Amino acid sequence: MPESIAQDTVVTLHYTLTNDAGDVVDSSRGRAPLTYLHGHQNIVVGLERELTGKAAGAQLEVVVEPGEGYGERDPQSGRAVPKDAFPGPVEVGMQLFAEDGEGKVIPIWVTAVGEDTVEIDLNHPLAGVRLHFDVEIVELRDAKPEELVHGHPHGRTGEEGHGHHHH
Ligand code: ZN
Repeated sequence: MPESIAQDTVVTLHYTLTNDAGDVVDSSRGRAPLTYLHGHQNIVVGLERELTGKAAGAQLEVVVEPGEGYGERDPQSGRAVPKDAFPGPVEVGMQLFAEDGEGKVIPIWVTAVGEDTVEIDLNHPLAGVRLHFDVEIVELRDAKPEELVHGHPHGRTGEEGHGHHHH
């Protein structure tokens, strides 16, 4: 077991994310902790850097500026599209994926749903937000070879909640 977090460590942690106003935006408390592969951009870069070298059991508070979090907010990236352009029902906050002209997949978010149109935005909902992370490191282990190939950790067999997608 690794003593502290380094490149290729599989890290399990609990976190609570708040904004500048102190509102809780996201938290792993009350559900399964987050497991990620360190050094593979599974989490925002500003948090990943501050976790390097920390040991299991450590608690820390990390403030991440938007540029090292979910990016600056681009006020020009919203647009309205006809509702019938969507194959199924859409709701506010839903994340969708579109392809650009070169076949690159880009995430988009639904910000409003009207009678005939849907407003979408390329900004991540947390773009432009300074992130305040309250982190408790639960467990560290070394990555398995196939996890390094995939660039993300694999959960134990039969266990849900590790956010694992094969791609
Ligand atoms: Zn995988």
